[in-house]
Amino acid sequence: MFNSVEKGKPIEVFQLNRMFLEDPHKNKANLGVGAYRTTEGKPWVLPVVRKTEIKLTQDESINHEYLPVCGTDAFTQAASGLLLGEQSKALAEKRAFGVQTLSGTGALRLGAEFLRKKLGRTIFYYSDPTWENHHQVFTNAGFETAKTYRYWDQVNRQIDFKGLLADLSEAPEGAVIILHACAHNPTGSDPTQDQWKQIADVMEQKRLFPFFDSAYQGFASGDPDKDAWAVRYFVDRGFELVCAQSFAKNFGLYCERVGNLTIVQKSSKTTEAVHSQITLLVRAMYSNPPAFGSRIVSAVLNDPQLRQEWMDCIKTMSSRILQMRAALYGHLTRLNTPGTWNHITEQIGMFSYTGLNEKQVRILIEEFHIYLLKTGRINMCGLNESNVEYVAKAIHCAVT
Ligand code: PMP
Repeated sequence: MFNSVEKGKPIEVFQLNRMFLEDPHKNKANLGVGAYRTTEGKPWVLPVVRKTEIKLTQDESINHEYLPVCGTDAFTQAASGLLLGEQSKALAEKRAFGVQTLSGTGALRLGAEFLRKKLGRTIFYYSDPTWENHHQVFTNAGFETAKTYRYWDQVNRQIDFKGLLADLSEAPEGAVIILHACAHNPTGSDPTQDQWKQIADVMEQKRLFPFFDSAYQGFASGDPDKDAWAVRYFVDRGFELVCAQSFAKNFGLYCERVGNLTIVQKSSKTTEAVHSQITLLVRAMYSNPPAFGSRIVSAVLNDPQLRQEWMDCIKTMSSRILQMRAALYGHLTRLNTPGTWNHITEQIGMFSYTGLNEKQVRILIEEFHIYLLKTGRINMCGLNESNVEYVAKAIHCAVT
């Protein structure tokens, strides 16, 4: 029976990681993987996370009973509060609520399932380019039509804002639009506040449904409020929307699968029904979420002192990324590498869309042992004081 199964395509980012690990070259650099790395190139357990997990494992009052289907209130309220702001009217009026999910991917899938099965949505739009998983998460949830809206102007290495607005204004009423809340993956280029206002104008006029994806809150600018600006702006304008939140990056809890889906409605009258339908969807997919990571996040966010320590950690991570952007830019301009490189320091978050083409990427991988996605996306965290000059020289060789 299984003979009919064709081998699936490899997942580029994981394949790249394997190639990196198997490469014995002393100067190899991994700019592909989507995770934070320290100056020494190592994964980082945030000190506040380490401290909290040790405390949790010693807490005899904690057991391993099932969590509620939609997670604990302590976690979901803290997570939705982080996104919408502690003073959020939507939360206070109980017309917004959160559901604990299997990290950001699980939140996207749950949101897509709900929109497809309970609101009958069939069309979704995603930015061109976007995180490579958006397409299949939505189509696997049953969305029939996938469309893109223009996002990246490769020539000028910036957002193609005219194209973006034109494509959104062509979208049919009710279409679901995936928007990156901050630190757009893979380009690292976010709309300005004025541009977000224009996006909201078009979406309001055309009655499009915003599905925010917030995978980097706090990680982008170092300030979680600033990174949530776009989502809060849409909520303040009266949009009904959903937002997938991931705690993989901003808490470094990648493998613990901690996420939240925040749902914002016009009125609290629909909350009970929507919550009950989401409960049934979760029940049928995986019954209930894992506890450990969400206990860490709620312990930290609900304690003022631990929360402050966490804010210091995200500052550490975002500052290191900014330093690496400046260092790479500095080396490339000193080398007089052909092309403009301002975008390296203008983009934000972990990723940078370098503008390197597939041939140049191949040179970097094959001749310099520098691993990056074929779109030219690099993870700034893969850079450190000891390899940034080597990487800049390699980019110089690849483009000349
Ligand atoms: N959305 C975007 C834009 C991402 O970059 C990621 C992680 N790479 C995710 C969602 C989901 O991540 P996770 O499921 O690990 O939380």
